[in-house]
Amino acid sequence: MAGRILPQERVADCGRKLMGPLAAVVLGENGAYINGTVTCGSIWMCPVCAGKIAEGRRREVLRCLDAHDATGGDVYMATFTIPHTAFETCASLRKAVANTWKKFQAGSGWRNAKKRYRIIGTIRALEVTHGKNGWHPHLHCLILTEKLSPEHAEELELFIKERWISILERETEKQGSWLYAVDLRKAENNKTAGDYIVKWGVDSELTKAHLKLSKKGGRSPWQLLSDAKSGDKYARVLFREYASAFKGSRHLTWSLGLRDTYDIGPHLTDEELAEMKKPHNGDTVLGTFDKKLFAKIMEANLMPDILTAAEQGGWQAVLRLLQEHGLGYPVRF
Ligand SMILES: [Zn+2]
Repeated sequence: MAGRILPQERVADCGRKLMGPLAAVVLGENGAYINGTVTCGSIWMCPVCAGKIAEGRRREVLRCLDAHDATGGDVYMATFTIPHTAFETCASLRKAVANTWKKFQAGSGWRNAKKRYRIIGTIRALEVTHGKNGWHPHLHCLILTEKLSPEHAEELELFIKERWISILERETEKQGSWLYAVDLRKAENNKTAGDYIVKWGVDSELTKAHLKLSKKGGRSPWQLLSDAKSGDKYARVLFREYASAFKGSRHLTWSLGLRDTYDIGPHLTDEELAEMKKPHNGDTVLGTFDKKLFAKIMEANLMPDILTAAEQGGWQAVLRLLQEHGLGYPVRF
């Protein structure tokens, strides 16, 4: 669906275009998948790649949180929002939230706060939903501090709210709400904090996304895709607007030096993370398709059925399915 809405983007080729002469059906631990096709690596436009990238990022974040835990430090989870109306564009609101964050983490005000509240670093994730008041870009942020007393933590919360609202009012000429602009709480454990910051991948699983819809009222981009697939033309237009507004934005940002402090290693790109799953030791190649047959399978939109057949009845079931659709015999691996 994303490829149909954005035919000029790489997502249109993701999983649908061959890299070499063959595509292989592989059976892995979590089911069957296709290997040998282009991977787009777009966290914003492709629900399949977004899931894989988020998984990789989540592993890095958890490694960092474990190392931080070992020092006895605290983790605070903060959501930062800006007021918005249905008349504002996705692009302008994304810029406003990104700009406010940039200013929030700059200058002597922040430098002093880092000392005062013993802030070791931050990790922030950018997300967006669309609801009855239009686009709602927001930030989920982890604030890693040394162990704080309850009084000290309370002071930190007030400081963060005050700073976000005053910068937001200065930068955007909007009125910040003390009730809604910032939500800050202490993370109960690392898993909660990890899930909180890399929710994007979880959201990309369309089935779960539907559950979230009823709870929150706003639609995630993946829900827009799902609705577009069910014939919602407006969702199609919204996804297009969102994709062009978010293209090139960074999903997850670590504050300077944090990765080094906890020895997280080099930063892998979205593209590298999206490519990582391909084939694991122990995965079995069931069979392959040549270019011509692969094109016919794509045209008939048969790949989901083929993967299901491969999981349930192996290569024989795939052959039967192809025969039923008059697609002849694939090349044997
Ligand atoms: Zn992709």
